[in-house]
Amino acid sequence: MEIDHNLYIHIPFCISKCKYCAFFSSACANPDWENFTKNILEEIKYWSIKLGKINIPTIFFGGGTPSLLPEKYVEQIINEINKSFHIDDNCELSLEANPGTINKEKLQNLKNIGINRISIGAQSFDDNRLIFLGRKHSAGQAIQIINDSLSLGFRTSADFIYGLPQDTPEYVAKLCSQINAIGLEHCSLYELTIEPNTPFGKMNLDMPSNEHMAQLYETISEKLCLPRYEVSNYANPGQECRHNQNVWDGEAYIGIGKGAAGRPFIKDTWYEQLGDNEKFEPISNETRTIEKIITGLRQTRGVKLTEDIKKQIDFHFINKNPDLLIISQDDRLKTTNKGLLVLDYILSELVK
Ligand code: SF4
Repeated sequence: MEIDHNLYIHIPFCISKCKYCAFFSSACANPDWENFTKNILEEIKYWSIKLGKINIPTIFFGGGTPSLLPEKYVEQIINEINKSFHIDDNCELSLEANPGTINKEKLQNLKNIGINRISIGAQSFDDNRLIFLGRKHSAGQAIQIINDSLSLGFRTSADFIYGLPQDTPEYVAKLCSQINAIGLEHCSLYELTIEPNTPFGKMNLDMPSNEHMAQLYETISEKLCLPRYEVSNYANPGQECRHNQNVWDGEAYIGIGKGAAGRPFIKDTWYEQLGDNEKFEPISNETRTIEKIITGLRQTRGVKLTEDIKKQIDFHFINKNPDLLIISQDDRLKTTNKGLLVLDYILSELVK
């Protein structure tokens, strides 16, 4: 029997493309869901043949816009996972939802079929910023769906983007107080990054300087009531996204659907994998360990100093830089607050 694997299922459709988006998704609100789901079910069966009836600790429907997928197909996918694998009794079942593509009734239906965590792409509580970003919903719709999700008892998260050309520390402080007031126990705040081949990438925007961005990031630390547990993620203790934590800790996971990445572990070998059978190649233990260090150090709890990790890092660099890195009593390597701001430099010096 193979080890536990987390499952990521990619739903690559959106009602339209946001101006900053470089994710694998296309603007198509009403695709052939029947056929799409059939392919997803086939992939699940394929992996169950490869891995056996393994335990699944978390399932994450990401996108794209998974809230466009009609409930009956979400149910078919969960049923197939249940048949093919063993869904852990405490399984976290997350689904990403965009305001304007889901209502309270659909949320209730998702709850009835087992989804227990909703991650909402709110992005802003300011209508002008939403228009600037190319979002197709209003701040009011975002607030409504957050409230609906909370009132139905879902573990609820929302994503926000900051660092738009006009953003000031005062704006970020106001956003944080709005998040505090609405009662979320988890949220993600991402700095706007300009990717080539997006509408923003062709617009020559007057983006904030690195110093200004660092000031906005600092404002979040000061004003948001939720503690940071990863570079861009904040949650009350116990409300962290377990799926992401497992992935960042270096556990095995499978990506299902075109555009989904995975790292399955089969018969003592790690693989780099892409959904829809696009890629399945062995990777060395060393490569996998380095990935674990990179994602582990983004978490405030850091990375466990297991033997494989110890072999891959420069302890001399750690000892020379106590202002950047510390080893905790439970034998985890963590960045300090200062270290978190220069993570790329740390990784370039730390990893052998
Ligand atoms: S909703 Fe998300 S995945 Fe879809 S275009 Fe916008 S940012 Fe990209």
